[in-house]
Amino acid sequence: MAVTRFAPSPTGLLHVGHAYSAWFSEQAAEGERFLLRIEDIDSGRSHERFVSAIYEDLEWLGLSWESPVMRQSERFPAYEEALNKLREAELLYPCFCTRADIRREIKSAGAAPHGAMGQAYPGTCRSLSTTERERRLKSGAPHALRLDVEAAMKAVGELTWHDRERGQQQCAMDLAGDVVLARKDVPTSYHLSVTVDDAAQGISLVTRGLDLFESTHVHRLLQALLDLPTPEYWHHPLITDEQGERLSKRSKSVTLRAIRESGATPEDVRRRFPS
Ligand code: GLU
Repeated sequence: MAVTRFAPSPTGLLHVGHAYSAWFSEQAAEGERFLLRIEDIDSGRSHERFVSAIYEDLEWLGLSWESPVMRQSERFPAYEEALNKLREAELLYPCFCTRADIRREIKSAGAAPHGAMGQAYPGTCRSLSTTERERRLKSGAPHALRLDVEAAMKAVGELTWHDRERGQQQCAMDLAGDVVLARKDVPTSYHLSVTVDDAAQGISLVTRGLDLFESTHVHRLLQALLDLPTPEYWHHPLITDEQGERLSKRSKSVTLRAIRESGATPEDVRRRFPS
């Protein structure tokens, strides 16, 4: 028995991959508690019509979750508190780089560690002098906040976490680089919000797709830095289409709404889940 959650971002309509993820999470709760969290920190890409569609689709699938539903857009004070704690520990630094700057820097260095989370940030702004940093901050230059991962790892020592399918994992940050904890446009990030909120909701088993496996190393590190409990994890396989491509909102995968409107049943959807 466990406390689990499904945490969709309302940036589009859900597809079969989401249905599997939500169903997987509800099953994993084994009748204890199944929660829902709307991950809507990105006000530019999140829309209320997609929030209503999430409820509609999940109800149609026959899932039932506990109230209240957590909305990340209402949780900014909690993220700020977490950032302050990391700032006090001197583990954050402002990063003024644009995507183009980062690309250029990686190219001139020859390469950068590359994993499912993309290419690791080369650390350009970590080595800015205090004077230069102050000058740019004073000029109002847009900046993100990054975690100084090396210093953070040193502060907490060796860490492990457990995946129900893949077993004990050693926390390894070499592929992630200095992750962004507050974006230029939003005063938090996926990594920070998800870690703070899984703890706030008392999640004991985090279920999600294997595409987020590497992110769990980052979350484990943040838990240690923020004195948050570490849940167990269970990363599930991703559903692919006939071409073997992973379903995604971007690739215009058939949505649950379209499936429903075509007259299919929730059982038809479930038949596409891995056994
Ligand atoms: N909101 C994330 C997504 O829709 C999932 C976060 C998680 O399960 O950790 O991809």
